[in-house]
Amino acid sequence: MRIAVCVKIVDGEINPFDECALEEALRITDAEVFAVSMCPQSAAEKLRSLTRLGVKEVYLLSDKLYAGSDTLATAYILSEFLKKQKFDCVFCGRQTIDGDTAQVGPCLATLLGIGLITNVMKICSIDETAVCETRLGHMSVPLPALLTIERINTLRFPSIRSKLGEITVLNNSQVGADRNKCGLSGSATRVLKTFENSAGKRKCKFIKPCEFLNILSELKQSGKKNIKITESDKKLPYVIAIGDDAAKKACEVADKVETIYENDPFVIAGIIKKKAPPAVLWNADLVGRRNAPVAAALINAGLCADCTALETDGETLYMYRPARGGNIIAKIMCITPVQMATVRCAEPSDDIIVSGGRGVAEDFDKIHALAKKIGAEVGASRAVIDKNVISYEAQIGLTGKSVSPKIYIAIGISGAVQHTCAIENSDFIIAINPDASAPIFEYADYGIVITFDEFLSKMQ
Ligand SMILES: Cc1cc2nc3c(=O)[nH]c(=O)nc-3n(C[C@H](O)[C@H](O)[C@H](O)COP(=O)(O)OP(=O)(O)OC[C@H]3O[C@@H](n4cnc5c(N)ncnc54)[C@H](O)[C@@H]3O)c2cc1C
Repeated sequence: MRIAVCVKIVDGEINPFDECALEEALRITDAEVFAVSMCPQSAAEKLRSLTRLGVKEVYLLSDKLYAGSDTLATAYILSEFLKKQKFDCVFCGRQTIDGDTAQVGPCLATLLGIGLITNVMKICSIDETAVCETRLGHMSVPLPALLTIERINTLRFPSIRSKLGEITVLNNSQVGADRNKCGLSGSATRVLKTFENSAGKRKCKFIKPCEFLNILSELKQSGKKNIKITESDKKLPYVIAIGDDAAKKACEVADKVETIYENDPFVIAGIIKKKAPPAVLWNADLVGRRNAPVAAALINAGLCADCTALETDGETLYMYRPARGGNIIAKIMCITPVQMATVRCAEPSDDIIVSGGRGVAEDFDKIHALAKKIGAEVGASRAVIDKNVISYEAQIGLTGKSVSPKIYIAIGISGAVQHTCAIENSDFIIAINPDASAPIFEYADYGIVITFDEFLSKMQ
Protein backbone atom coordinates (compact mmCIF):
# COMPACT_ATOMS: atom_id res chain seq x y z
CA MET A 1 0.00 0.00 0.00
CA ARG A 2 1.32 3.46 -0.91
CA ILE A 3 0.23 6.25 1.42
CA ALA A 4 0.71 9.98 0.85
CA VAL A 5 0.81 12.11 3.99
CA CYS A 6 0.22 15.86 3.68
CA VAL A 7 2.41 17.79 6.08
CA LYS A 8 2.52 21.49 6.92
CA ILE A 9 5.37 23.14 8.78
CA VAL A 10 4.02 25.73 11.22
CA ASP A 11 6.50 28.01 13.01
CA GLY A 12 9.35 25.65 12.13
CA GLU A 13 7.61 22.56 13.53
CA ILE A 14 5.50 19.84 11.97
CA ASN A 15 1.82 20.62 12.50
CA PRO A 16 0.84 18.38 15.48
CA PHE A 17 -2.10 16.72 13.69
CA ASP A 18 0.15 15.99 10.68
CA GLU A 19 2.59 14.25 13.05
CA CYS A 20 -0.27 11.95 14.02
CA ALA A 21 -1.16 11.35 10.36
CA LEU A 22 2.47 10.43 9.68
CA GLU A 23 2.69 8.11 12.66
CA GLU A 24 -0.57 6.42 11.72
CA ALA A 25 0.71 5.82 8.16
CA LEU A 26 4.07 4.53 9.40
CA ARG A 27 2.28 2.02 11.67
CA ILE A 28 0.55 0.32 8.73
CA THR A 29 2.36 -2.91 7.96
CA ASP A 30 4.26 -2.90 4.65
CA ALA A 31 3.00 0.58 3.76
CA GLU A 32 5.22 2.74 1.59
CA VAL A 33 4.83 6.21 3.04
CA PHE A 34 5.68 9.41 1.21
CA ALA A 35 5.16 12.97 2.43
CA VAL A 36 4.15 16.06 0.51
CA SER A 37 4.25 19.60 1.77
CA MET A 38 3.37 22.91 0.16
CA CYS A 39 5.62 25.27 2.11
CA PRO A 40 8.36 27.87 1.63
CA GLN A 41 11.88 26.53 1.02
CA SER A 42 12.74 27.32 4.66
CA ALA A 43 10.77 24.18 5.63
CA ALA A 44 13.18 21.91 3.70
CA GLU A 45 15.41 20.83 6.61
CA LYS A 46 12.50 20.01 8.91
CA LEU A 47 10.89 17.98 6.13
CA ARG A 48 14.17 16.23 5.42
CA SER A 49 14.23 14.97 9.02
CA LEU A 50 11.19 12.81 8.14
CA THR A 51 13.41 10.60 6.00
CA ARG A 52 14.97 9.30 9.24
CA LEU A 53 11.57 8.01 10.39
CA GLY A 54 10.98 5.65 7.48
CA VAL A 55 9.26 8.10 5.13
CA LYS A 56 10.46 6.89 1.71
CA GLU A 57 10.12 10.09 -0.31
CA VAL A 58 9.53 13.70 0.72
CA TYR A 59 8.25 16.28 -1.77
CA LEU A 60 8.35 19.99 -1.06
CA LEU A 61 6.14 21.99 -3.42
CA SER A 62 7.56 25.46 -3.28
CA ASP A 63 7.01 28.40 -5.57
CA LYS A 64 6.51 32.15 -5.10
CA LEU A 65 3.21 31.68 -6.94
CA TYR A 66 1.87 29.69 -3.99
CA ALA A 67 2.19 32.50 -1.41
CA GLY A 68 -1.15 33.53 0.08
CA SER A 69 -3.02 30.40 -1.07
CA ASP A 70 -6.24 29.82 0.86
CA THR A 71 -7.50 26.34 1.70
CA LEU A 72 -9.03 25.66 -1.72
CA ALA A 73 -5.94 26.91 -3.60
CA THR A 74 -3.70 24.82 -1.31
CA ALA A 75 -5.83 21.73 -1.88
CA TYR A 76 -5.75 22.42 -5.63
CA ILE A 77 -1.92 22.59 -5.73
CA LEU A 78 -1.60 19.40 -3.64
CA SER A 79 -4.15 17.66 -5.87
CA GLU A 80 -2.24 18.58 -9.04
CA PHE A 81 0.86 16.98 -7.55
CA LEU A 82 -0.94 13.89 -6.21
CA LYS A 83 -2.80 13.24 -9.48
CA LYS A 84 0.59 12.43 -11.01
CA GLN A 85 1.57 10.07 -8.17
CA LYS A 86 0.57 6.50 -7.43
CA PHE A 87 -1.20 6.19 -4.09
CA ASP A 88 -3.89 4.11 -2.37
CA CYS A 89 -4.55 6.48 0.47
CA VAL A 90 -3.91 10.08 1.52
CA PHE A 91 -3.60 10.96 5.21
CA CYS A 92 -3.94 14.55 6.45
CA GLY A 93 -3.98 15.94 9.97
CA ARG A 94 -7.45 17.02 11.17
CA GLN A 95 -6.45 20.65 10.80
CA THR A 96 -3.47 22.95 11.02
CA ILE A 97 -2.93 24.85 14.24
CA ASP A 98 -2.38 28.21 12.53
CA GLY A 99 -5.35 28.19 10.14
CA ASP A 100 -7.55 25.82 12.22
CA THR A 101 -9.96 25.43 9.28
CA ALA A 102 -9.93 21.62 8.76
CA GLN A 103 -10.83 22.37 5.12
CA VAL A 104 -7.77 21.28 3.10
CA GLY A 105 -8.37 17.53 3.65
CA PRO A 106 -12.03 17.48 2.49
CA CYS A 107 -11.28 19.88 -0.42
CA LEU A 108 -8.33 17.71 -1.51
CA ALA A 109 -10.37 14.48 -1.41
CA THR A 110 -13.01 16.17 -3.58
CA LEU A 111 -10.52 17.51 -6.12
CA LEU A 112 -8.91 14.06 -6.34
CA GLY A 113 -12.35 12.45 -6.67
CA ILE A 114 -11.67 9.95 -3.87
CA GLY A 115 -13.51 8.86 -0.71
CA LEU A 116 -13.25 10.80 2.55
CA ILE A 117 -13.33 10.01 6.26
CA THR A 118 -12.72 12.90 8.66
CA ASN A 119 -11.90 13.06 12.38
CA VAL A 120 -10.40 9.58 12.54
CA MET A 121 -9.88 8.38 16.13
CA LYS A 122 -8.80 4.84 15.17
CA ILE A 123 -8.05 2.98 11.94
CA CYS A 124 -9.65 -0.44 12.47
CA SER A 125 -8.51 -1.93 9.16
CA ILE A 126 -7.25 -0.71 5.83
CA ASP A 127 -6.87 -2.88 2.71
CA GLU A 128 -9.35 -2.44 -0.10
CA THR A 129 -11.55 -0.45 2.26
CA ALA A 130 -10.65 1.89 5.13
CA VAL A 131 -12.67 1.14 8.27
CA CYS A 132 -12.34 3.74 11.02
CA GLU A 133 -13.72 4.90 14.36
CA THR A 134 -14.28 8.65 14.08
CA ARG A 135 -15.72 11.46 16.17
CA LEU A 136 -18.81 11.05 13.95
CA GLY A 137 -19.07 7.28 14.57
CA HIS A 138 -18.00 4.15 12.70
CA MET A 139 -17.19 4.84 9.02
CA SER A 140 -15.91 2.85 6.07
CA VAL A 141 -14.99 3.87 2.54
CA PRO A 142 -13.40 2.02 -0.39
CA LEU A 143 -9.87 3.02 -1.37
CA PRO A 144 -8.50 5.22 -2.75
CA ALA A 145 -9.56 7.54 0.05
CA LEU A 146 -8.38 10.43 2.18
CA LEU A 147 -8.46 10.23 5.98
CA THR A 148 -8.06 13.19 8.34
CA ILE A 149 -6.45 12.10 11.59
CA GLU A 150 -7.07 13.37 15.15
CA ARG A 151 -4.31 13.66 17.77
CA ILE A 152 -4.39 9.95 18.50
CA ASN A 153 -0.71 9.07 18.81
CA THR A 154 2.78 10.46 19.23
CA LEU A 155 5.21 10.63 16.32
CA ARG A 156 8.12 8.21 16.78
CA PHE A 157 11.70 9.36 17.30
CA PRO A 158 14.27 8.43 14.64
CA SER A 159 16.42 5.44 15.48
CA ILE A 160 20.08 6.25 16.18
CA ARG A 161 21.22 4.28 13.15
CA SER A 162 18.79 5.93 10.72
CA LYS A 163 20.29 8.01 7.92
CA LEU A 164 19.14 11.35 6.61
CA GLY A 165 17.79 11.05 3.04
CA GLU A 166 17.20 13.65 0.36
CA ILE A 167 14.00 15.51 -0.42
CA THR A 168 12.64 16.55 -3.80
CA VAL A 169 11.84 20.23 -4.22
CA LEU A 170 9.41 21.01 -7.03
CA ASN A 171 8.46 24.41 -8.42
CA ASN A 172 5.20 25.12 -10.17
CA SER A 173 6.42 24.25 -13.65
CA GLN A 174 7.22 20.77 -12.26
CA VAL A 175 3.95 20.51 -10.31
CA GLY A 176 1.99 21.69 -13.35
CA ALA A 177 -0.74 23.66 -11.55
CA ASP A 178 -2.70 26.37 -13.36
CA ARG A 179 -1.06 29.59 -12.09
CA ASN A 180 -4.43 31.37 -12.10
CA LYS A 181 -5.67 28.98 -9.41
CA CYS A 182 -2.61 29.38 -7.13
CA GLY A 183 -1.63 31.82 -4.40
CA LEU A 184 -3.53 34.90 -3.30
CA SER A 185 -4.78 35.76 -6.79
CA GLY A 186 -6.13 32.22 -7.21
CA SER A 187 -7.81 32.18 -3.80
CA ALA A 188 -11.54 32.57 -3.28
CA THR A 189 -11.21 34.28 0.11
CA ARG A 190 -9.44 37.41 1.34
CA VAL A 191 -8.31 38.19 4.88
CA LEU A 192 -9.23 41.86 5.31
CA LYS A 193 -7.70 42.39 8.75
CA THR A 194 -6.67 40.60 11.92
CA PHE A 195 -6.86 41.78 15.50
CA GLU A 196 -6.28 40.48 19.01
CA ASN A 197 -8.99 38.13 20.24
CA SER A 198 -10.47 39.27 23.51
CA ALA A 199 -13.89 37.80 22.73
CA GLY A 200 -13.74 34.96 25.24
CA LYS A 201 -12.82 37.24 28.16
CA ARG A 202 -15.31 37.77 31.00
CA LYS A 203 -15.50 39.78 34.18
CA CYS A 204 -14.65 37.42 37.02
CA LYS A 205 -16.39 37.69 40.38
CA PHE A 206 -14.30 36.07 43.09
CA ILE A 207 -16.32 33.99 45.55
CA LYS A 208 -15.68 31.86 48.63
CA PRO A 209 -15.66 28.04 48.38
CA CYS A 210 -18.71 27.84 50.68
CA GLU A 211 -20.71 29.88 48.12
CA PHE A 212 -19.95 27.43 45.29
CA LEU A 213 -22.96 25.07 45.61
CA ASN A 214 -25.47 27.94 45.92
CA ILE A 215 -24.03 29.73 42.88
CA LEU A 216 -24.08 26.45 40.98
CA SER A 217 -27.78 25.90 41.61
CA GLU A 218 -28.56 29.55 40.71
CA LEU A 219 -26.66 29.21 37.43
CA LYS A 220 -28.40 25.93 36.63
CA GLN A 221 -31.76 27.69 36.84
CA SER A 222 -30.77 30.89 35.05
CA GLY A 223 -31.79 31.60 31.46
CA LYS A 224 -29.49 30.97 28.55
CA LYS A 225 -27.19 33.61 27.15
CA ASN A 226 -27.78 34.21 23.48
CA ILE A 227 -24.80 33.96 21.14
CA LYS A 228 -25.25 36.86 18.76
CA ILE A 229 -23.73 36.21 15.41
CA THR A 230 -24.62 39.26 13.32
CA GLU A 231 -23.44 42.79 13.91
CA SER A 232 -25.11 44.82 11.14
CA ASP A 233 -28.55 46.21 10.25
CA LYS A 234 -28.42 45.63 6.49
CA LYS A 235 -29.28 42.20 5.20
CA LEU A 236 -28.49 39.97 2.24
CA PRO A 237 -31.55 39.39 0.02
CA TYR A 238 -31.41 35.59 0.09
CA VAL A 239 -29.34 32.97 1.87
CA ILE A 240 -29.42 29.17 1.78
CA ALA A 241 -28.92 27.54 5.18
CA ILE A 242 -28.05 23.89 5.63
CA GLY A 243 -30.24 22.72 8.53
CA ASP A 244 -32.25 24.51 11.23
CA ASP A 245 -29.33 25.68 13.36
CA ALA A 246 -27.67 27.44 10.42
CA ALA A 247 -31.09 28.83 9.40
CA LYS A 248 -31.45 30.57 12.78
CA LYS A 249 -28.13 32.31 12.22
CA ALA A 250 -28.96 33.03 8.56
CA CYS A 251 -32.12 34.95 9.64
CA GLU A 252 -29.82 37.45 11.34
CA VAL A 253 -28.08 38.34 8.04
CA ALA A 254 -30.71 37.65 5.36
CA ASP A 255 -34.20 38.86 4.40
CA LYS A 256 -35.11 35.49 2.94
CA VAL A 257 -33.72 32.16 4.14
CA GLU A 258 -34.20 28.85 2.39
CA THR A 259 -33.40 25.88 4.60
CA ILE A 260 -32.07 22.71 3.01
CA TYR A 261 -32.28 19.44 4.93
CA GLU A 262 -29.68 17.31 3.22
CA ASN A 263 -26.50 15.58 4.33
CA ASP A 264 -24.91 14.74 1.00
CA PRO A 265 -22.49 17.55 0.00
CA PHE A 266 -22.70 16.49 -3.67
CA VAL A 267 -26.50 16.99 -3.66
CA ILE A 268 -26.13 20.27 -1.77
CA ALA A 269 -23.52 21.50 -4.29
CA GLY A 270 -25.99 20.73 -7.10
CA ILE A 271 -28.71 22.80 -5.40
CA ILE A 272 -26.34 25.71 -4.77
CA LYS A 273 -25.20 25.66 -8.38
CA LYS A 274 -28.78 25.76 -9.60
CA LYS A 275 -30.08 28.45 -7.22
CA ALA A 276 -26.90 30.57 -7.12
CA PRO A 277 -27.62 32.30 -3.76
CA PRO A 278 -25.31 35.12 -2.66
CA ALA A 279 -24.44 33.15 0.47
CA VAL A 280 -24.70 29.70 2.01
CA LEU A 281 -24.37 29.07 5.76
CA TRP A 282 -23.56 25.76 7.42
CA ASN A 283 -23.44 24.79 11.05
CA ALA A 284 -19.80 24.66 12.17
CA ASP A 285 -20.31 21.24 13.77
CA LEU A 286 -18.31 18.21 12.65
CA VAL A 287 -20.74 17.37 9.83
CA GLY A 288 -20.87 20.95 8.50
CA ARG A 289 -17.12 21.31 8.70
CA ARG A 290 -16.76 18.07 6.73
CA ASN A 291 -19.42 18.77 4.08
CA ALA A 292 -18.95 22.51 3.43
CA PRO A 293 -15.38 22.18 2.06
CA VAL A 294 -16.50 19.31 -0.19
CA ALA A 295 -19.28 21.50 -1.64
CA ALA A 296 -16.88 24.48 -1.87
CA ALA A 297 -14.42 22.42 -3.92
CA LEU A 298 -17.23 21.15 -6.18
CA ILE A 299 -18.57 24.61 -7.04
CA ASN A 300 -15.31 26.54 -6.54
CA ALA A 301 -16.76 28.84 -3.87
CA GLY A 302 -14.97 30.75 -1.16
CA LEU A 303 -15.53 29.26 2.29
CA CYS A 304 -14.71 30.67 5.70
CA ALA A 305 -14.54 28.19 8.59
CA ASP A 306 -15.96 28.35 12.08
CA CYS A 307 -17.19 31.96 12.09
CA THR A 308 -18.11 33.54 15.39
CA ALA A 309 -19.63 36.71 13.92
CA LEU A 310 -21.06 37.86 10.60
CA GLU A 311 -21.62 41.30 9.13
CA THR A 312 -23.06 42.42 5.80
CA ASP A 313 -23.50 45.60 3.79
CA GLY A 314 -26.34 43.95 1.90
CA GLU A 315 -24.07 42.45 -0.78
CA THR A 316 -20.88 41.16 0.79
CA LEU A 317 -20.79 38.83 3.77
CA TYR A 318 -17.97 39.75 6.17
CA MET A 319 -16.99 36.83 8.34
CA TYR A 320 -15.08 36.90 11.62
CA ARG A 321 -13.25 33.84 12.88
CA PRO A 322 -10.61 32.96 15.45
CA ALA A 323 -7.24 31.88 14.02
CA ARG A 324 -3.80 30.94 15.31
CA GLY A 325 -5.27 28.85 18.10
CA GLY A 326 -7.71 31.58 19.11
CA ASN A 327 -5.01 34.23 19.60
CA ILE A 328 -6.36 36.46 16.85
CA ILE A 329 -9.62 37.16 15.07
CA ALA A 330 -9.55 37.46 11.28
CA LYS A 331 -12.08 39.40 9.21
CA ILE A 332 -12.57 37.54 5.94
CA MET A 333 -14.62 37.91 2.76
CA CYS A 334 -15.18 35.65 -0.25
CA ILE A 335 -14.64 37.00 -3.75
CA THR A 336 -16.69 34.30 -5.46
CA PRO A 337 -20.36 34.83 -6.48
CA VAL A 338 -21.45 32.33 -3.79
CA GLN A 339 -20.06 33.23 -0.36
CA MET A 340 -19.98 30.35 2.10
CA ALA A 341 -19.30 30.06 5.81
CA THR A 342 -19.57 27.51 8.57
CA VAL A 343 -20.89 29.36 11.62
CA ARG A 344 -20.86 28.46 15.29
CA CYS A 345 -24.48 27.66 16.05
CA ALA A 346 -24.27 25.53 19.16
CA GLU A 347 -26.30 27.14 21.93
CA PRO A 348 -24.96 26.05 25.30
CA SER A 349 -26.51 22.75 26.42
CA ASP A 350 -27.84 22.07 29.90
CA ASP A 351 -24.78 20.06 30.84
CA ILE A 352 -22.14 20.82 33.41
CA ILE A 353 -18.52 19.90 32.69
CA VAL A 354 -15.95 19.57 35.46
CA SER A 355 -12.56 19.81 33.84
CA GLY A 356 -9.23 19.15 35.51
CA GLY A 357 -5.78 20.39 34.58
CA ARG A 358 -2.18 19.66 35.43
CA GLY A 359 -2.66 21.12 38.92
CA VAL A 360 -5.00 18.24 39.82
CA ALA A 361 -3.72 15.50 37.49
CA GLU A 362 -2.48 13.41 40.44
CA ASP A 363 -5.90 13.70 42.10
CA PHE A 364 -8.14 12.96 39.17
CA ASP A 365 -10.29 10.49 41.08
CA LYS A 366 -11.44 13.49 43.13
CA ILE A 367 -12.42 15.29 39.90
CA HIS A 368 -14.54 12.25 38.96
CA ALA A 369 -16.08 12.22 42.47
CA LEU A 370 -16.97 15.93 42.30
CA ALA A 371 -18.45 15.47 38.81
CA LYS A 372 -20.60 12.59 40.07
CA LYS A 373 -21.77 14.62 43.07
CA ILE A 374 -22.97 17.57 40.98
CA GLY A 375 -24.12 15.55 37.94
CA ALA A 376 -21.40 16.68 35.56
CA GLU A 377 -19.33 15.19 32.76
CA VAL A 378 -15.54 15.12 33.09
CA GLY A 379 -13.12 16.96 30.81
CA ALA A 380 -9.41 17.66 30.94
CA SER A 381 -6.66 19.89 29.64
CA ARG A 382 -4.03 18.48 27.32
CA ALA A 383 -1.51 18.36 30.17
CA VAL A 384 -3.66 15.66 31.81
CA ILE A 385 -4.14 13.67 28.59
CA ASP A 386 -0.37 13.74 28.04
CA LYS A 387 0.05 12.12 31.46
CA ASN A 388 -2.34 9.33 30.41
CA VAL A 389 -4.68 10.07 33.31
CA ILE A 390 -7.78 10.07 31.09
CA SER A 391 -8.40 9.26 27.41
CA TYR A 392 -8.03 11.72 24.53
CA GLU A 393 -11.85 11.87 24.06
CA ALA A 394 -11.92 14.02 27.21
CA GLN A 395 -9.40 16.58 25.93
CA ILE A 396 -10.83 20.05 25.57
CA GLY A 397 -9.00 22.59 23.45
CA LEU A 398 -7.49 23.40 20.11
CA THR A 399 -6.18 19.87 19.56
CA GLY A 400 -9.10 18.24 21.39
CA LYS A 401 -12.76 19.17 21.18
CA SER A 402 -14.77 22.37 21.66
CA VAL A 403 -17.56 22.36 24.22
CA SER A 404 -20.55 24.58 24.94
CA PRO A 405 -22.01 23.45 28.28
CA LYS A 406 -24.24 25.54 30.49
CA ILE A 407 -21.57 25.54 33.20
CA TYR A 408 -17.87 24.82 32.73
CA ILE A 409 -15.83 24.32 35.90
CA ALA A 410 -12.06 24.56 35.31
CA ILE A 411 -10.00 23.17 38.17
CA GLY A 412 -6.20 23.36 38.17
CA ILE A 413 -6.20 24.73 34.62
CA SER A 414 -4.04 27.79 33.95
CA GLY A 415 -6.05 29.11 30.98
CA ALA A 416 -3.73 28.79 27.98
CA VAL A 417 -5.39 30.14 24.83
CA GLN A 418 -5.30 26.63 23.29
CA HIS A 419 -7.65 25.60 26.08
CA THR A 420 -9.84 28.69 26.45
CA CYS A 421 -10.56 28.88 22.69
CA ALA A 422 -12.65 25.73 23.08
CA ILE A 423 -14.73 26.78 26.09
CA GLU A 424 -15.79 30.30 25.14
CA ASN A 425 -19.28 29.16 24.08
CA SER A 426 -20.00 27.98 27.63
CA ASP A 427 -22.82 29.90 29.28
CA PHE A 428 -20.95 30.24 32.59
CA ILE A 429 -17.37 29.45 33.55
CA ILE A 430 -16.16 28.88 37.11
CA ALA A 431 -12.39 28.64 37.72
CA ILE A 432 -10.72 27.11 40.78
CA ASN A 433 -6.99 27.73 41.04
CA PRO A 434 -4.63 28.78 43.88
CA ASP A 435 -2.81 31.21 41.58
CA ALA A 436 -4.81 34.46 41.53
CA SER A 437 -2.88 35.62 38.47
CA ALA A 438 -3.73 32.53 36.37
CA PRO A 439 -5.18 33.68 32.99
CA ILE A 440 -8.17 31.34 33.42
CA PHE A 441 -9.74 33.93 35.74
CA GLU A 442 -9.89 36.38 32.79
CA TYR A 443 -12.15 33.87 31.03
CA ALA A 444 -14.29 33.00 34.05
CA ASP A 445 -17.55 34.45 35.42
CA TYR A 446 -16.73 33.19 38.92
CA GLY A 447 -13.36 32.44 40.48
CA ILE A 448 -12.19 30.74 43.65
CA VAL A 449 -8.53 31.24 44.57
CA ILE A 450 -7.71 28.05 46.42
CA THR A 451 -6.10 24.62 45.98
CA PHE A 452 -8.44 21.81 44.95
CA ASP A 453 -8.04 19.94 48.26
CA GLU A 454 -8.82 23.06 50.32
CA PHE A 455 -11.77 23.76 48.05
CA LEU A 456 -13.18 20.25 48.63
CA SER A 457 -12.87 20.58 52.38
CA LYS A 458 -14.48 24.06 52.44
CA MET A 459 -17.17 23.84 49.78
CA GLN A 460 -19.90 22.22 51.94
C1 LIG B 1 -0.25 23.35 19.24
C2 LIG B 1 -0.78 23.25 20.64
C3 LIG B 1 -2.02 22.69 20.85
C4 LIG B 1 -2.53 22.59 22.14
N1 LIG B 1 -3.77 22.05 22.33
C5 LIG B 1 -4.29 22.03 23.58
C6 LIG B 1 -5.61 21.54 23.83
O1 LIG B 1 -6.31 21.07 22.93
N2 LIG B 1 -6.08 21.58 25.09
C7 LIG B 1 -5.34 22.07 26.13
O2 LIG B 1 -5.84 22.07 27.27
N3 LIG B 1 -4.10 22.51 25.93
C8 LIG B 1 -3.55 22.49 24.69
N4 LIG B 1 -2.28 22.91 24.50
C9 LIG B 1 -1.43 23.14 25.69
C10 LIG B 1 -1.63 24.49 26.33
O3 LIG B 1 -0.78 25.44 25.72
C11 LIG B 1 -1.25 24.41 27.82
O4 LIG B 1 0.08 23.94 27.95
C12 LIG B 1 -2.16 23.48 28.60
O5 LIG B 1 -3.51 23.82 28.36
C13 LIG B 1 -1.84 23.64 30.08
O6 LIG B 1 -2.64 22.75 30.78
P1 LIG B 1 -3.01 23.08 32.27
O7 LIG B 1 -3.69 24.39 32.35
O8 LIG B 1 -3.73 21.88 32.80
O9 LIG B 1 -1.57 23.10 32.95
P2 LIG B 1 -0.71 24.29 33.50
O10 LIG B 1 -0.60 25.41 32.53
O11 LIG B 1 0.55 23.70 34.02
O12 LIG B 1 -1.57 24.84 34.71
C14 LIG B 1 -1.78 24.12 35.86
C15 LIG B 1 -2.55 25.02 36.80
O13 LIG B 1 -2.85 24.27 37.97
C16 LIG B 1 -2.82 25.15 39.08
N5 LIG B 1 -2.63 24.34 40.29
C17 LIG B 1 -1.48 23.87 40.82
N6 LIG B 1 -1.73 23.17 41.92
C18 LIG B 1 -3.06 23.17 42.10
C19 LIG B 1 -3.93 22.61 43.08
N7 LIG B 1 -3.47 21.90 44.09
N8 LIG B 1 -5.26 22.82 42.95
C20 LIG B 1 -5.75 23.55 41.91
N9 LIG B 1 -4.95 24.11 40.98
C21 LIG B 1 -3.63 23.92 41.07
C22 LIG B 1 -1.67 26.07 38.79
O14 LIG B 1 -1.81 27.29 39.50
C23 LIG B 1 -1.78 26.24 37.27
O15 LIG B 1 -2.51 27.41 36.95
C24 LIG B 1 -1.75 23.04 23.23
C25 LIG B 1 -0.50 23.61 23.01
C26 LIG B 1 -0.02 23.72 21.73
C27 LIG B 1 1.33 24.35 21.51
